[in-house]
Amino acid sequence: MDFELSPKARDYRDRLQEFMDAHVYPAEPVYAAWRAENDPHALPPVVEELKAEARRRGLWNLFLPDVSGLSNLEYATLAELTGRSPDLAPEAVNCAAPDTGNMEVLHMFGTDEQKERWLRPLLDGEIRSAFAMTEPEVASSDATNITTSIVRDGDEYVVNGRKWFITGAADERCKIFIVMGKTDPEGPAHRRQSQVLVPRDTPGVTVVRHLPVFGYQDQHGHSEILFEDVRVPASNLLAAEGDGFMIAQARLGPGRIHHCMRALGMAERALELMCRRALSREAFGGPLARQGVVREQIAESRMAIEQARLLTLKTAWLIDRHGAKGARTEIAAIKVVVPRITHEVLDRAIQVHGAAGVSDDTPLAAMYSWVRAMRIFDGPDEVHVRTVARQELRRHET
Ligand SMILES: Cc1cc2nc3c(=O)[nH]c(=O)nc-3n(C[C@H](O)[C@H](O)[C@H](O)COP(=O)(O)OP(=O)(O)OC[C@H]3O[C@@H](n4cnc5c(N)ncnc54)[C@H](O)[C@@H]3O)c2cc1C
Repeated sequence: MDFELSPKARDYRDRLQEFMDAHVYPAEPVYAAWRAENDPHALPPVVEELKAEARRRGLWNLFLPDVSGLSNLEYATLAELTGRSPDLAPEAVNCAAPDTGNMEVLHMFGTDEQKERWLRPLLDGEIRSAFAMTEPEVASSDATNITTSIVRDGDEYVVNGRKWFITGAADERCKIFIVMGKTDPEGPAHRRQSQVLVPRDTPGVTVVRHLPVFGYQDQHGHSEILFEDVRVPASNLLAAEGDGFMIAQARLGPGRIHHCMRALGMAERALELMCRRALSREAFGGPLARQGVVREQIAESRMAIEQARLLTLKTAWLIDRHGAKGARTEIAAIKVVVPRITHEVLDRAIQVHGAAGVSDDTPLAAMYSWVRAMRIFDGPDEVHVRTVARQELRRHET
């Protein structure tokens, strides 16, 4: 395995680093100040300014190998950089979740008409999108539980159900929902579900509320959405009836690795802040960095990040060679390992910052809440641990 960056990836990395330093980090206080004065789901103007600047610099849609020409391995380093400023950088370069996953789905399974109508404006950063699978009434980590019904009626499908924690739906630019539901409740467990495109303005769609994550309201929101007798043309179906589970799997593979790459960026930023704070803050006769306990926290963090990054790069390398299916166990493993170590690094960084660590004067508290939530979204830890164990046991079964 060779993790050496290609000249092309090095060039992207250097240009992205320059963009982060010159534009993204300086925009962070501007973004926070604007949001403090406005509706939490309104769009701070600085976001569109950053997008225009990134696009001008050719830093755009880096996540999609067919568009960017970058491998997953090459993209890993870039995604990590964007994760250092998670509210701004991924969106600035049009690589933010859940749009990336939705664009991948449309790219892989969309008809020409669906691509023209939805993929093109998403790739151009003109609109945003959401993926609606989870439901409040059922344990949604087991997707076979999903109860939303998608019923064929002539040339239309009729959608009924309630979803929640649908990321992106609070943003007025979010124009399209990919909705997962059952078209064949009596079919084989993994062939009952389908996915259908539901434009946000379709009659019967109600965005009920926006759920906070540990008290934080994300600008794009995590929303509860009610679908009541929502009618869409039959041509809005993605792939074929019964393909919902297969599409979800295809979508979640790359999505999970992208989340992990960005989380590593958060871990790196937290460690950097921790070191700076430890070197500059004096207590008991010297800088905190002189205390053995603090040094141990720094070293533990560095060692954990390096291990997690190597596993993430190996996973990206495997996806490049064997597809998401061939890297299934590793994808499950990093989805557990990376949030876990990032959570620990952030916890240590917060501790070293004292009271400042739990305030909003540093990005640490917000990152901490996000990474904690990451141990639940895109499948809770336990489900991924189950996958790893199953593969491991399979090797020893006779
Ligand atoms: C910030 C955030 C953003 C999200 N964005 C989206 C989105 O955009 N679209 C969307 O559809 N969903 C989204 N979700 C929902 C998320 O994907 C689900 O919460 C997740 O899949 C778990 O489903 P659940 O909440 O129903 O938990 P449940 O399925 O009820 O599980 C609860 C707990 O049970 C335990 N558990 C479950 N299975 C097992 C097992 N096999 N073995 C042992 N223990 C187990 C785990 O501890 C788990 O946390 C988001 C969630 C959050 C927090």
